[in-house]
Amino acid sequence: MGGETAPLLPMLTTMPSQLLAWFAAHGRDLPWRHTRDPYQILVAEIMLQQTQVDRVLPKYHAFLATFPSVTALAEAATGEVIRHWAGLGYNRRAVNLQRTARVIVAQHQGAFPREVAALRQLPGLGPYTAGAVACFAFEQDVVFLDTNMRRVLQRTHNGPAVATTAAGDRQLLEVSAALLPVGQGWAWNQALIELGALVCRASSPACPRCPLRAECRAHAAWRNDDETLLAAMGAAPAVPLRRAAEERASYRSSERFVGSNRWYRGRLIDLLRAQPPQQPVLLSMLGPQLRENFGPADMAWLQQLATGLARDGLLVLAGEWVRLP
Ligand code: SF4
Repeated sequence: MGGETAPLLPMLTTMPSQLLAWFAAHGRDLPWRHTRDPYQILVAEIMLQQTQVDRVLPKYHAFLATFPSVTALAEAATGEVIRHWAGLGYNRRAVNLQRTARVIVAQHQGAFPREVAALRQLPGLGPYTAGAVACFAFEQDVVFLDTNMRRVLQRTHNGPAVATTAAGDRQLLEVSAALLPVGQGWAWNQALIELGALVCRASSPACPRCPLRAECRAHAAWRNDDETLLAAMGAAPAVPLRRAAEERASYRSSERFVGSNRWYRGRLIDLLRAQPPQQPVLLSMLGPQLRENFGPADMAWLQQLATGLARDGLLVLAGEWVRLP
């Protein structure tokens, strides 16, 4: 791997102490940071994968109140798990989480494996989630990447460009492993996530209050860009141009989501959540609630939508009747 890896620069050797000090002072008090229960950690990690912390918090407490252990989750009706996932989106996560719980109960006597390699064998656990459980539940010094961690390491070490290649990820994992202070993997990984969420955001990173700004390559590059731009314009733009472009891209992407196939899948599951448990309903009854001006010509589309959801374990389809599992 050596040929693809940028040298670890001396400038980054102060990063661990600065980052850990910042995290100790500014890290949020979140419930999953108070537990080392692997089940609770896994629930939090799966919820946080696609959903903001503020939306996860009430759902996390409610979900654990209903399914307090990996055994309780494994034994629940899948439809109940999907019902309790309401408001979080990406409903497949609920089904996959329960599949994981069932394997842990059936094959591991309800006890989570501790090692990343064994965790990776569980259904639905990719490198990030397996690393997060090994680190946040079992306090192992392992490295892994989510979008926040990737962004912080990329910007500090390489500069503004986004690294999305496998080789890029390997390099960032090497950087993280080299910087991780021995015995402090839990705090190191939490701090990377937190800095990416609160300060080194995708849009408008708050460099002026970042503990890493003095040594950060992206910050240095942007500072030079801004100075060049300001010199050329003779005044500060109302919104920095880079941020304005990112905000436009984010708005366009949310516009595209409404009316997309994924959006309709979520709406169909929402309609089934409103039905009594185990109560089938005709697809043709749901169509008009799903789409304005729904007509007979739309039935094939709806049937296809339901077939995809059934394949993913999110509903039971029998002819034209559907219900939650
Ligand atoms: S200085 Fe700016 S770009 Fe660099 S890590 Fe901090 S917030 Fe991110």
